[in-house]
Amino acid sequence: MKKAIINETRCDQSPFCPVVKSCPVNAIKQEKLGFFKAKTPKVDHDICIGCEKCVRYCPHGAVNIINK
Ligand code: SF4
Repeated sequence: MKKAIINETRCDQSPFCPVVKSCPVNAIKQEKLGFFKAKTPKVDHDICIGCEKCVRYCPHGAVNIINK
């Protein structure tokens, strides 16, 4: 089954990450570290349906789809 993963080395840890909001089933969560800082978002693979929508929203190409 397809699942999204986010590459931490490509991610710029922006708290305004468009990928988080792109997910239709809210599978992507991001911990905020303050107004201008945040951690790399995480994809909950129990919720992700592998629709691949999030891939198009990352300006750094940090989101990949894997077969799990
Ligand atoms: S592949 Fe689809 S369901 Fe999975 S995290 Fe990305 S947008 Fe959400």
